[in-house]
Amino acid sequence: MLSYKEIGLVNTNGMFARAVKGGYAVPAFNFNTMEQMQAIIMAAVETKSPVIMQVSKGARNYANATILRYMAEGAVAYAKELGCEHPEIALHLDHGDSFEICKSCIDMGFSSVMFDGSHLPIEENIAITKQVVEYAHQHDVSVEAELGVLAGVEDEVSAAESHYTKPEEVIFFTSQSGCDSLAISIGTSHGAYKFTPEQCTRDPKTGLLVPPPLAFDILHEIEEKLPGFPIVLHGSSSVPQEEVETINKFGGKLPDAIGIPEEQLREAAKSAVCKINIDSDSRLAMTAAIRKTLGENPGYFDPRQYLKPARDAMKNLYVHKIVNVLGSNGKLAQC
Ligand SMILES: [Zn+2]
Repeated sequence: MLSYKEIGLVNTNGMFARAVKGGYAVPAFNFNTMEQMQAIIMAAVETKSPVIMQVSKGARNYANATILRYMAEGAVAYAKELGCEHPEIALHLDHGDSFEICKSCIDMGFSSVMFDGSHLPIEENIAITKQVVEYAHQHDVSVEAELGVLAGVEDEVSAAESHYTKPEEVIFFTSQSGCDSLAISIGTSHGAYKFTPEQCTRDPKTGLLVPPPLAFDILHEIEEKLPGFPIVLHGSSSVPQEEVETINKFGGKLPDAIGIPEEQLREAAKSAVCKINIDSDSRLAMTAAIRKTLGENPGYFDPRQYLKPARDAMKNLYVHKIVNVLGSNGKLAQC
């Protein structure tokens, strides 16, 4: 048993309380590789932002949970080396699917866990979330739960269609389960194909597809029922069309990849939404940079030659999200 506090991580309670009050959201970036981790930390330090580094089931299968845990410890040391004396970095389990996986992550030094029982009947979702909360709170670890189903595919999490969170269930769910934050479904979804072209309209000026708007009415209803309670949005990548174009130009094939417009996320960040998950945009930035670099330099074979531009592209993306979309820049408790 290792406490996250021993390795300099923080839980999400303090950062969320300030974010709800301050009208901004904390970024939650998924990571699988050293380059992603470095880019996240460089961006967080440069912008003086709190940050959540999150680990999905796919990341644990790819990189190994122990290695990712040590990378998070390295991330704290790296942030300090870059000049940030008091970094606020949470290590979060994304979409934990059992009590056992949540417990094992808490025991190895995670500061926050999500139990995702959104596909279960509400009573079962409450029962397991509560079990996770009881264990997590003994160790001062924060717990995210989910109510409502997001469409899309993300690693091993997938659903054919979304079911919006029912505002009439949120008070019962949060009070019974004791969770610290709640992920809701209001029209965001996982992956780079958030909507089919048929679900979208076409902007006559740009010719680009415009997805249906998020259900802000449901968000506001939930905010009224749970004043000040931290709300989380999953599946909130914007799928920048210039990255998709670069990928397709250099041999990729991502037809009609569509995300959530940034102005809608900006609006959500000003509400009780205090954690916004972004994964696909980082994957797209990395892939676009690697394809472009290799396409323009066919003689390259040293991974550093294409991973460095990929890391730079991800760092620029993270800075952009923090400063221009979430507004968490300059929001460290102590600089
Ligand atoms: Zn998710």
